[in-house]
Amino acid sequence: MSQPVKPPISADDIDAILPQTQCRQCRFDGCRPYAEAIARGEADINRCPPGGLDGIRRLATLTGQAFRIFEADAPQPKPRELALIDEENCIGCTLCIQACPVDAILGAAKSMHTVLGDECTGCALCVAPCPVDAIRMEPVTPAVEGLSAERSALARRRYQFRLARLQREREEKAARLAARSAAPAPATAPTAAPQSSAANMLDEQKKAVIAAAMRRAAELQAARKTGDKT
Ligand code: SF4
Ligand code: SF4
Repeated sequence: MSQPVKPPISADDIDAILPQTQCRQCRFDGCRPYAEAIARGEADINRCPPGGLDGIRRLATLTGQAFRIFEADAPQPKPRELALIDEENCIGCTLCIQACPVDAILGAAKSMHTVLGDECTGCALCVAPCPVDAIRMEPVTPAVEGLSAERSALARRRYQFRLARLQREREEKAARLAARSAAPAPATAPTAAPQSSAANMLDEQKKAVIAAAMRRAAELQAARKTGDKT
């Protein structure tokens, strides 16, 4: 008699176990791509530090694979952390907002940013993009491992909402550009600069503001170090 065929493990079931930090320590572009790679049999089950050893055990049970610990030279589990922004040094460049996968940072260009503690997953993806090192990660107290099931579900919803928003913005931008290029050329020479030139000028101005703010922040930090208060 032939053996019953084992149903394939679904990426949904695997994704339901992953903590949804979206930190990319597994070397995939978020939890869902990692779940899909495991489902295809293309990734090991021991690559998610925020999931901890318990996460590996649950993945092993689901997939029927043997439990194994993290590779010694791979990222290891550690207590959950929270991002904190140094208000004095923040230059309002918005780069951290663009990096946060769950929209946990509030702020606007040239104004101080702040982290929504209840939404932050501790992924640390906002730390590296900050040009003035104004973001640090602090362990949550009392110490906890990973995210609870409720927080994971919330992080998944916020991540999916962000992906949908970014997709909508891309489509709206493409539609605006298409409408602009389809519009008939003006009969007479335009008196104002073309829109694309104006957009380029705005980009240049934005870069100049960020560069000037970074210079000021560097000077401030240097002055603090040398005790020069001028
Ligand atoms: S939480 Fe785990 S599965 Fe998700 S991106 Fe980070 S390491 Fe990968
Ligand atoms: S605030 Fe920073 S550490 Fe927290 S979720 Fe956003 S990118 Fe990750």
